Amino acid sequence: MSFTLNSVGIIHSCYKEKFGIPRQPGLVTEAKATLELLSPYNREEAVRGLEDFSHIWITFIFHGCLTEGWKPTVRPPRLGGNKRVGVFATRSTYRPNPIGLSVVELEKVVIEKGSVVLHLKGADLLDQTPVLDIKPYLPYVDSISNAKGGFAPDAPSSEFEVTFSEQARQVCQQTYSPDLNLAVLINQILSFDPRPAYTADMLGSHNFAMKLLDYDVKWGVEGKNILVTDILKIH
Ligand code: SAM
Repeated sequence: MSFTLNSVGIIHSCYKEKFGIPRQPGLVTEAKATLELLSPYNREEAVRGLEDFSHIWITFIFHGCLTEGWKPTVRPPRLGGNKRVGVFATRSTYRPNPIGLSVVELEKVVIEKGSVVLHLKGADLLDQTPVLDIKPYLPYVDSISNAKGGFAPDAPSSEFEVTFSEQARQVCQQTYSPDLNLAVLINQILSFDPRPAYTADMLGSHNFAMKLLDYDVKWGVEGKNILVTDILKIH
């Protein structure tokens, strides 16, 4: 059987490329995103009652890797990137149907003339991600205290110490607002070490870059220390 699905909404997030996005939601709490409902679903009635839930499930399309196809086995970063497990035993993006599932905090629902926007916290979603569905998180059924977590039994630990160059610190200060603390956002992202697992094992220092909001963020890694060297505005 095949099905045709419509996007009910689109994500606007700080993550402008895949590299740097946390591997699951809730890890980078400073990351704010919005989910804009699309016509004909952008109706006040369609979200009535949703604001009473603190968290929602979002199903979405991994639109950033549609051309990459699926793989029957994948190498999860949590296993060091060198052990294969079945794709259905992972949350990998390389799936037969490129559908993702994330639970995120719902800060507020903003309804204005002709627009319905959900404000989210801690999402692990690429900017422009198409959303297939939204459902409320129900603690009594969705939280299972004795569940087994397979190869990822616990939340990943943030083992890295992140420091900022003078240039990077200044950009963080200049851009600070109640809605954006760039220093905390970058610190949270990098402390979970977004590098692929095989790179993390390599010896010596390495330089990396990611696009975050309107910035190119560059950093170097040496051992367990990360130095954010440059934060450059993208023109
Ligand atoms: N929480 C979701 C799940 O379990 O289905 C996603 C887990 S997946 C391991 C997380 C990764 O998906 C992120 O690190 C990011 O690189 C990637 N990602 C997020 N949004 C994406 C999109 N729209 N297209 C392609 N990759 C995406």
